[in-house]
Amino acid sequence: MPEITPLVAGNWKMNGTRASLTEIDALELDTEVEVLICPPSTLISDMADRAPDGLDVGAQDCHAAGSGAHTGDISAAMVADLGGTFVIVGHSERRTDHGETDALIKAKAEAVLAAGLIAIVCVGETEAERDAGTAEEVVGTQIAGSLPAGATAENTVIAYEPVWAIGTGRTPTLDDIAQMHDFMRAELTGHIGAAADGVRLLYGGSVKPANAKDIFGIGNVNGGLVGGASLKAADFNAIIAAA
Ligand code: PEP
Repeated sequence: MPEITPLVAGNWKMNGTRASLTEIDALELDTEVEVLICPPSTLISDMADRAPDGLDVGAQDCHAAGSGAHTGDISAAMVADLGGTFVIVGHSERRTDHGETDALIKAKAEAVLAAGLIAIVCVGETEAERDAGTAEEVVGTQIAGSLPAGATAENTVIAYEPVWAIGTGRTPTLDDIAQMHDFMRAELTGHIGAAADGVRLLYGGSVKPANAKDIFGIGNVNGGLVGGASLKAADFNAIIAAA
C-alpha cells in the first residue's frame, strides 16, 4: 500500500463574506496533513491570495464546459486562474437541489482534470437507501457513473457522504464507515487497478472534533470532507489535529 497523506477538506457551502477570511489566519496547519478549504466562489481569489503556506483553496462546483453561454456558472479553468487547486463535484446538495446526474458529475470531474486540478467526487446513499440495504449498490453505481476517465491517485479524491449524515449531527457507526470505505476501495480497484490503492477516500457527514479521531482511525479513511465544522478555525483545527 502506498503512503497516503490525509486530506482534510472544508466545504463552506453558501456561507461567508470577505470578513470571514480572518478564520484562515487562525488555522493550525500540519505538514503531515493536506488541508483544503472550498469557500463560495466569490471568495476563492481572496482566500487563495491570503492563504498561509500549506492551505489549499478550491471550488464547490464547476461547469463541465471550459467556457461559453452558461449564465451564473464558473469553469474549472476559472478556478485555476484564481489560484484554486481542487473542485468538489457531485455534492449531494448539487445532486438534489440541481438534479445533477452521475453522467453530468463525470463530465464535470473530467473538466476539472483537463484544467489540471484535482476532483473531489462525492457519493453517498440516502437514509431510505440505507434502510433498504442498498447503500453499497447505490455508492457502487455512483462511483461507476461519475468517476472521471483518466482518474489517478493524484488527480481524484472520492468523498463518501451519506446524505442523511450531512448537517444532521448523525453519523454511521464506525463499522458501517469501515465497511463502505473497504467496498469503495475494492470498487475503485475494479475501475482503475492498482492506482486505486493511493486514491484518498474521505468520509463526510457531521465530522466534528468529538468524532474525528475515531473516524480518521479507520483503515481506508484518508481524511474528511467537513461542512459546518470547517467554518470556525477552532473546530477545524481540532479536526486537522485528529488527522
Ligand atoms: C458536507 O456538506 O460536505 C458536509 C460534510 O457537511 P457537514 O459536515 O456539515 O455534515
